[in-house]
Amino acid sequence: MSQRVRGIGMTSERTRLRMVERLRSAGVRDTGVLAAMAEIPRHIFVDDALASRAYDDVSLPLGHGQTISHPLTVARMCELVRAARPLGRVLEIGTGCGYQAAVLSRIAREVFSVERIAALLEQARVHILRELRLRNVRMKHADGRDGLPEAAPFDAIVIAAAAPEAPSALIDQLAPGGRMVLPLGNEKQRLCLIERSAAGVIDCMLEEVHFVPLRAGTLR
Ligand code: SAH
Repeated sequence: MSQRVRGIGMTSERTRLRMVERLRSAGVRDTGVLAAMAEIPRHIFVDDALASRAYDDVSLPLGHGQTISHPLTVARMCELVRAARPLGRVLEIGTGCGYQAAVLSRIAREVFSVERIAALLEQARVHILRELRLRNVRMKHADGRDGLPEAAPFDAIVIAAAAPEAPSALIDQLAPGGRMVLPLGNEKQRLCLIERSAAGVIDCMLEEVHFVPLRAGTLR
C-alpha cells in the first residue's frame, strides 16, 4: 500500500477510527457500514491541500462546484438502503470523487456509479481502481436521471444530488424489496427513503440535508 493511501497524522488510520467513533455516537448503528468507513481512506478522495480535513465532520469542495458528502450523511444513506441485509447490486447517482462508491463496495456485491461530469469521474476511477483496486465498482459517464437500465434491477439506489421529486426511471429500476435514498427539495432538502414493497411503493421523509442539485445532461 502506498504512503499516500496509508496516510499519516491527520490522515492516519487513528484519525479515521475517531471519525467512526463520532459516527457511532451520532447514532449510526450498522456495523457493516461503520467497518466500511473504518476501512476506506477518505483522505485520498480530496485534494492534497484539504487532506488534513478529510476526517472532519464537514463536506468539502471537490472542484467543478461539487462537494464530497459529510461523513454522517454517507453513513446514514448507506445504513438506510442496506437495512442490515446483504446487498447484491447497488446503483449510485453522482459519483463525485468516488468516496461513497468505495464505501458501498464494502457492503454490496456490485456497485454501479454514474456521474455527469467526465473530469470528476476520471479522478474517481484513479482512486477506486488504481489506488484502492476495488474490483466490484463500475463507473459510467452519463446523466444518472435515466438510471442504468442495462444493469437493473438494483437492491439499492443512492442518489447523491438533490431533486424536487424522485426520478421515475429510477423507481422503476428498484428490485422488489429494493430501497432508494435521495435528498428531496431545492433550497430546503430532506432525505427521503423509498421502498418497493409487495404493497407498492412507500416513502418516508427523514432528516434535513444539504446536497448539490441533480442536473440534466453531461459535461466533459
Ligand atoms: N457521492 C459523492 C458526492 C457527490 S456530489 C461522495 O462520495 O461524496 C454529487 C455529484 O452528483 C456531483 O459530482 C454531480 O456532478 C453529480 N450529479 C449531479 N447531477 C447528476 C446527474 N443527473 N447524473 C449523474 N451525476 C450527477
